[in-house]
Amino acid sequence: MTPVVEAPAARVAGVVETVERARAYFATGATRGIDWRLAQLAAMAAMLGENRARFEEALRRDLHKGATEARFTELGSVLGEIAHTRRHLRRWLRPRRVSVPIGIAPARARLVAEPLGVVLVIAPWNYPLQLTLAPLIGAIGAGNTAVVKPSELAPHVSAVLAELLPRYLDPRAVYVIEGGVAETTELLRQRFDHIFYTGSGRVGRIVARAAAEHLTPVTLELGGKSPVWFDDDAHLAGAARRIAWAKFTNAGQTCIAPDYVLTTPDRVAALTAAIGAEVTRMWGEEPARSPDYGRIVNDHHHARLLGYLAEGEIAFGGQHDVATRYLAPTILHVGQAPDARSDEDGRAVLTEEIFGPILPIVVVDSAQAAVDHINAGEKPLAMYVFAGSAATHELFVAATSAGGVGQDVAFLQAGVPGLPFGGVGESGMGAYHGEYSVRTFSHLKPVLRKPYALDALGVTMPPFTPWKRRIADRFSRSA
Ligand code: NAD
Repeated sequence: MTPVVEAPAARVAGVVETVERARAYFATGATRGIDWRLAQLAAMAAMLGENRARFEEALRRDLHKGATEARFTELGSVLGEIAHTRRHLRRWLRPRRVSVPIGIAPARARLVAEPLGVVLVIAPWNYPLQLTLAPLIGAIGAGNTAVVKPSELAPHVSAVLAELLPRYLDPRAVYVIEGGVAETTELLRQRFDHIFYTGSGRVGRIVARAAAEHLTPVTLELGGKSPVWFDDDAHLAGAARRIAWAKFTNAGQTCIAPDYVLTTPDRVAALTAAIGAEVTRMWGEEPARSPDYGRIVNDHHHARLLGYLAEGEIAFGGQHDVATRYLAPTILHVGQAPDARSDEDGRAVLTEEIFGPILPIVVVDSAQAAVDHINAGEKPLAMYVFAGSAATHELFVAATSAGGVGQDVAFLQAGVPGLPFGGVGESGMGAYHGEYSVRTFSHLKPVLRKPYALDALGVTMPPFTPWKRRIADRFSRSA
């Protein structure tokens, strides 16, 4: 059983009161107006623009995230999402006409997007700014009020958000509750109209269970072991560069980072050398000295990652420092792929999500063997295929399942606002980004209007005379 963690009484009262206030404000209708929504999004952009240095400093303190990386993957990414949403929101919200079948005509059918109410956003620590604000953009864009719970494991970003969000955004609509398990547990006791959770599957299950009590819909943005297939005819230097970048950015603490590489025995040495060369190009001979290389978020995760190092042969990197929670970009040779259905090979590095800068290279005999290996495991959040032939790319798209796929690229699929971002199976449920966010946080309400004139509805109403029965008979036959 999961132990129940009690929050201090004052904080508990704070949570209850916060949700009540968010609900009362939603009931006023103030958040439904599209101008209000657009103004909130503009205010969020202003918050980021005017406080860029503060956010960058907080990210550096929490994760040793370099300012330039932070601009690309956190601030810039959120600002891009805001701009995209502001540009298209009116169109997304326009009621959509839907055609009606002849038997129901004349009538007018529409889909009207209505906000759900009060939304809870629970964020993780690895992209603590982006993964708190990106869902909030959708929640506000859809016209909801929101309670946001940033990650306690990125305390500096959490504190800046708690200070600035209510200052820039309408404080009656957007609330920040800081804290960890106790506060989140208390939040989860409350009734929300949607819960948007990003993090591990373990906590995702706790969230889903709590949501079930209130029949609250959930979006679960989880993780998993995202594989890479590196084919014999793949572009070596190009693939190595993109794999190294996607894997070791943020010291590997990215939900869609490549978790491990599958390739044939002949390619292992060349790929290892090429990825190593790209690491050196990006972060230098000693990444520990690079201002652009991250650190592991806490001692627990650092120790967990060091444990993996003993489960293979370190072919590149491996240097580490407990005091600064440094772990160099590391390539681990782990040999032949174990049979995923047997647990004879008990190596954690092959079964757990790594979520750090260790890239195992796993050997298989063929692309089909890689497909079988992937299919024997849980459905990943992302899958990456580096291959020279369209047929190989197609094989992986058609024969495996994943939240998203990158072909000859990794990481970037999450940066296309027109593509939904989310998992499938063990990697999550639901999706967001751009229009998909607005859909996630809205109810698409069907509305049907029918004039009294030209009314053929009587056919479906008793008494059922013989000719009505004949029509019903025809209606119930297949075409
Ligand atoms: P986590 O599940 O430990 O924590 C996430 C959030 O849950 C935090 O806000 C935390 O306070 C809260 N939480 C933790 N324990 C809780 C409990 N017992 N009850 C209630 N709430 C609790 O996740 P994490 O370590 O921050 O993130 C790592 C995982 O998240 C990885 O699996 C990664 O792949 C996944 N992830 C997914 C995405 C995505 O977009 N799909 C993005 C980032 C991370």
